[in-house]
Amino acid sequence: MRRHVSVPPVRKPTRKREVGRGERVLPGVWRLRLPLPWPGVPHCNAWALAAGDGIVLVDTGMHEPGSMAHLERALDQAGLRLEHVRLVVCTHAHVDHCGQAPAIRERTGAPVWLHPAHGHLHANDETPEETIARRVEVARQSGVPEEPLRRWAEQRRAGGTGMSGELTSDRDLVPGATVTTDLGEWQVVETPGHAPSHVCLHQPERRLLISGDHLLGRVSLYFDEGHTPDPVGEFLESLDRVDALDARLALAGHGRPFTDLAGHISANRSLVSIRLDGVRAALAAGEGTPFELAQRVYGEAFSELTASWLLAKTRSWLTHLERRGEARRTGPADPGGADVWGAGR
Ligand SMILES: [Zn+2]
Ligand SMILES: [Zn+2]
Repeated sequence: MRRHVSVPPVRKPTRKREVGRGERVLPGVWRLRLPLPWPGVPHCNAWALAAGDGIVLVDTGMHEPGSMAHLERALDQAGLRLEHVRLVVCTHAHVDHCGQAPAIRERTGAPVWLHPAHGHLHANDETPEETIARRVEVARQSGVPEEPLRRWAEQRRAGGTGMSGELTSDRDLVPGATVTTDLGEWQVVETPGHAPSHVCLHQPERRLLISGDHLLGRVSLYFDEGHTPDPVGEFLESLDRVDALDARLALAGHGRPFTDLAGHISANRSLVSIRLDGVRAALAAGEGTPFELAQRVYGEAFSELTASWLLAKTRSWLTHLERRGEARRTGPADPGGADVWGAGR
């Protein structure tokens, strides 16, 4: 889920009762459940895979004060230690999946593998203030009023970046690269859509899939948009690609492992189709900025807390419909004003 990056991390120390936990889910596979400071997304998973005298760590949790202690606590419950990490693999460049990667590399010397399209994180090429400024500009163009935008920027400034250092990859995680573990070799499957850098890891003999945020036990869509031509279209293609693998168990980036991947994939396709219909109906009701259209599509679910996340999705739906010839930018009403969208070509 990219909720984490999109919705401002609201820091409320009283909420932080979650601690890192580790449990074995299969011989040689441990789920490390790591707390997150985000409302509605209480934790993320890292996965430890037995590999010779050590482990491969898939995903890392985000970096914040105390986060390494949570990871070490979770590892300890699994009978493991940070020093066992031989390789860090990130399913994608969102901070809850890669935030601690630089610190773990620093501590253990383990290399970090990541898909090359990780520039969407902007952790290396922007200061936190530049990131806020860029996102404020996108929000302005989407028609978000000044006052909530100012509050959002303030909250963002109060939070950290979620990263423990510069994110670099020691090897490109692309098809053809394999991750060797005691359970066999895991193959890289590119699954852009949720994020341009998203990959799943597939173990064909055991029919296991480490699905990151591409497939979650609870259907929850998010598209890290603005970096590729059509994140929604890319996501749908990624669903087809994963469907064809016929995996039987998914180890996801959040929540419990789940079976019935075909059912989950189909539920994702249905929700995409429902939301696209919602955007078509919103456009049929009249032209609007993404901010106005998002309120029509999501109704009461659209609040100051969810606005950033739901706006990114609305922009993604509009971009997808634009490519299908069902939506178009009719312009900003004033020079430098917010984008306005209407139906049709
Ligand atoms: Zn996530
Ligand atoms: Zn994500």
